This record gives sequence, C-alpha cells and structure tokens, in this order.
Amino acid sequence: MGQEGGWTPRFLRPFNDWEVEEVERFLLTIQGERLNADVEDRMVWKETKNGIFTVKSSYNSLDHSCAVTFPWSIIWSPYVPTKVGFFAWEGSWGKVLTQDQLKRRGWTLANRCSLCCAEEETINHILVHYSKAKVLWDLVFSLFGANWVLPSTVRDTLLGWLASFKDKKHRKVWRAAPLCLFWTVWKERNMIVFDNEVLSVQRLKNSFVCNLFLWAKSSIGVGPFTLFNFVDWLGSC
Ligand SMILES: [Zn+2]
Repeated sequence: MGQEGGWTPRFLRPFNDWEVEEVERFLLTIQGERLNADVEDRMVWKETKNGIFTVKSSYNSLDHSCAVTFPWSIIWSPYVPTKVGFFAWEGSWGKVLTQDQLKRRGWTLANRCSLCCAEEETINHILVHYSKAKVLWDLVFSLFGANWVLPSTVRDTLLGWLASFKDKKHRKVWRAAPLCLFWTVWKERNMIVFDNEVLSVQRLKNSFVCNLFLWAKSSIGVGPFTLFNFVDWLGSC
C-alpha cells in the first residue's frame, strides 16, 4: 500500500516483543478464516449461533462463569448432613445472619463479634480469621499432616480445599472437614449468643472431632473405629 500510494513511513523501527506477540496472535486468530469481501463488517455476539445478542444468552454465559468460581461440589456433599451444606452455602454467599448482615437489613446495633468481643462480626471473621477458629484449623492440619495457608473468605477456603491422598476415604473426610469446622464454630457462637454459654476451646475441639468422626462413620463408612483409632487413621494418609 505504501509503494502504490507513494506513501513513505516517516518513522521506521523494529517491532518490540509485545507487538510481535500481538501480530502473531492476530495471525493465529485469522488463520483458516475466509474473508468475504462482499459482506460489510459487523459486530457478532459469540454466545449465540446466529451472532445476535439476547439477554438469555448473556445471562447463561454469566451463570456459567459463576459455576466455575463457586465451590458447589464440596458444599453439596453426601458426606455431611444437608443442613450443614446449606449453612456452608449461605456462608459462601455471605448470607448468614451475622451482625453485619443484620445491620444491612436495617437493625440498629453496635457490631461486635460475640466470640472475641474485639472485631466486627462477619461470617469470614467467625469462620476463618477468629483466633479460636484458627485453633481448630490448626487442629485439622495437624490431624491430616497438611500444610495450608488460609485464604480470606469462606468461599475461597472451600474453592482451594484440594489435596491428594492415597485413598478415597481420606479424601472424603478431608472434604468434610472444613464444613464440620464451620458448623462447630457456628454452633458454639449460637450457644454463646442465645444460651449465655461461656466460650470453651476444649468444647470446640471435642465437638469438631466428634462430629467429624460421626459423619465419617455414617456417611463415608470408615472403620470400624474407636474415636482414638479414627484420629490415628487420619494421620496415616
Ligand atoms: Zn471475633
């Protein structure tokens, strides 16, 4: 085009790496495509077959992308009671009625965590960051002999909850463990709020291990074990 039109570029320089990459990507994209010179250029919506935008196709594409980033499979697990799955589901969407949610619904209250009385009460604080919840997280990791860095939210914790084990039963108990922990801390929180109980770390630990043991026996079929054998078995993964 420059030659035919008598046009001479005024600034010539070699392409930099970024430009070379862009050109390569462009050539790859158009590779194998046939251009029809008789048809005008037009915008095409890639989510429908005919290339025309519809709200339904847009919603479906968003819905699909949500499915990728939500921990469905670990929440709707056959290894924990259904009510626990519902609680984890609500927690992952930030819908549990902690004080921050009550404030958002118009309640007038000073948001103060019922467990530590220091931070604001949110579901991510209670289940992930709260110091006594961390004691339970440490217990989980030491029981399974795992090293882990917890993310900041309930949802990200479940999304990242992957580990390899030598057998399926260990993997199933591992997948039930965070839901068991959430449930145990939430029950403790409710005992303090509604029954005027005093926080007990020993009760937290006992409840967590006993719940996990009962669910593993009834839904996963580990054993026959005593509680002591179960703890021993967890560490053998
Ligand atoms: Zn707290």
